[in-house]
Amino acid sequence: MMRTIRYYCKAFRKIFAFEPLLIPLTLVLAVATGAKPFINIYFSARIVAELSGARSVSTLTTLVLLCLGLNFLLQILNEWLMPTFSMLRSRLYEKERMEIEHKLFMLDFAKLENSGFQELVHLHSESMEKVFSAFAQLCWMLREFVTGVSTLVCAFIILAPLIRIGFTKTGEGFVHSPWFFIVLILFLAISVVIILQLSNKTSRIWFSSMERYGKLNRLFRCYRDILSNYNSGKEVRLYKEQDLIEKEATEALLTKGETILYETSQQSAAASSYIAIIGALVGFGVYVFIGVKGLLGLFTIEALVRYTGAFMQIISGITSIAMTLGKSAEILPNLEYFFRIVEAESNMQYGTKEINLEKVEIEFRHVWFRYPGAKDYTLKDISLKIAKGERLAVVGRNGSGKTTFIKLLCRLYDPDQGEILVNGVDLRTLSKACCMRLFSVVFQDFKLFSLSVQENMTAGETPDTPRLRQCLAEADVLERVKRMAQAENTSLYKDIDKEGVEVSGGEAQKLALARALYKDAPIVVLDEPTAALDPVAEHRIYQQFNAFVEGKTAIYISHRLSSCRFCDTIAVFRKGELVQCGTHDALLKEETGEYKKLWDAQAKYYLPAKAE
Ligand code: ADP
Repeated sequence: MMRTIRYYCKAFRKIFAFEPLLIPLTLVLAVATGAKPFINIYFSARIVAELSGARSVSTLTTLVLLCLGLNFLLQILNEWLMPTFSMLRSRLYEKERMEIEHKLFMLDFAKLENSGFQELVHLHSESMEKVFSAFAQLCWMLREFVTGVSTLVCAFIILAPLIRIGFTKTGEGFVHSPWFFIVLILFLAISVVIILQLSNKTSRIWFSSMERYGKLNRLFRCYRDILSNYNSGKEVRLYKEQDLIEKEATEALLTKGETILYETSQQSAAASSYIAIIGALVGFGVYVFIGVKGLLGLFTIEALVRYTGAFMQIISGITSIAMTLGKSAEILPNLEYFFRIVEAESNMQYGTKEINLEKVEIEFRHVWFRYPGAKDYTLKDISLKIAKGERLAVVGRNGSGKTTFIKLLCRLYDPDQGEILVNGVDLRTLSKACCMRLFSVVFQDFKLFSLSVQENMTAGETPDTPRLRQCLAEADVLERVKRMAQAENTSLYKDIDKEGVEVSGGEAQKLALARALYKDAPIVVLDEPTAALDPVAEHRIYQQFNAFVEGKTAIYISHRLSSCRFCDTIAVFRKGELVQCGTHDALLKEETGEYKKLWDAQAKYYLPAKAE
């Protein structure tokens, strides 16, 4: 209970921060909706009294006009405020999503990659599918709740005199004694409890069925994505996956999904019928009570009309409140996931130092690193200096720690022990902007986005077209881009733009290289930069490599040892340790060294290397 209240308080503070006008507007709308039926009740009672009394035409006309006028005014108010309410609610939803996206972008990579955090993100997006937006739902609930409360308050104000009448003994017998009233109140209280329980149950039924149906729907969508995505089209066809997909997804959704929906509507229809029956019984009891007391002449005909009208509103007020309480269980998980994501702390802190980016020198000093949750260290006591303008090749078997070394250098992770210095300054004390400016990286599993070539390269900044083309040319992909329908303004891939172009793995790698060149950072890191290139393209890139990295510090990871020879230094990793460091010739002379082993092994299978 305390947890629910805590999350609600936080959520309302957030709604206020996102859209300050939304809560006051919701309250105005709710009070107006709650009070509206009582205008009719009040004026009907006055009109009946007038008709059974003086029957003055002018009074009757005034009453009718006032009733119509007030109804009209409330209707206008509602019509006028509703579009603003809907618009603010949509904006709230957008802002809620943007806050999550912003957080995911700002969060340090280590946290983002963490499996626990990934699970949280997954749970959040799943719950978004169920409740759409907890904040927008909360506004709806606030409106329903306040409408219910306003209705109850108005009803009780009108009914207050009945309490005195109910407790007054007017003679002998049950209907004359206060017990009549006490029994009615007890009956009403029990009915309220049952209605609350039933509404809660209905909400739970829908919630659990949406969860079950949502799972099927997700499966269906996931399979449909596989079928519609041309990237997986080859495997689907060659391995005849479509039969499995149809059986697992389509049939499941049609049969199991239909059963779930049918059962749910049956169950919730039953609950709604019980609520309606209880409402009718309560209404009957109330009418009997008011009728009997009216017959005894304890109140006027005007009061009779008011009392009956007001009593019936109690049921509607309670149902409104019950519905909001039932919804609470539904949105709470979504709120919890939202706050756990946006409140997740980045472990990585940035400093404020700036360094001269003209030429940079890097030093690893006794760096140890272990992935969060891993048993063993992935990098062990790495000490290494990369001089200004030096070209360093990093080699080693799979899993020896090369990519992790790069991740630490780019500050995607921080060392557990030791330090990484750039121009003598600890990487952790640099400002975030400075860190970002330092590196141009092409990862082995680089990603290009479904945006235009130019947007991919400039990350949305105003493009310097001549330089952009020069970088494309240096990466040997300018001709290919020129052949695209709108040259560098052509979109890559077809996910967003149906006119987008499909590029081959090699072309994509060249584009990724061009993007790294365009960034013009002082440290260039290329992780297997030519893996997807054909030998001719690879040769061309190497020829240009010196020009690429002219004046920059370059780090280069490759499995093809023959292509590392143009580097000044080669660092050899084995099982997370830096086991050798030196020039190609010097390392080859170490007969028992890891480099020689790798070289010999490759020379055996890789013809051009053997020919050297
Ligand atoms: P290389 O680039 O030399 O192939 P990596 O640096 O990618 O090697 O990986 C070194 C070791 O760290 C491997 O054993 C790998 O399984 C492990 N590793 C890599 N990334 C993670 C991660 N995110 N979490 C846990 N272990 C990881």
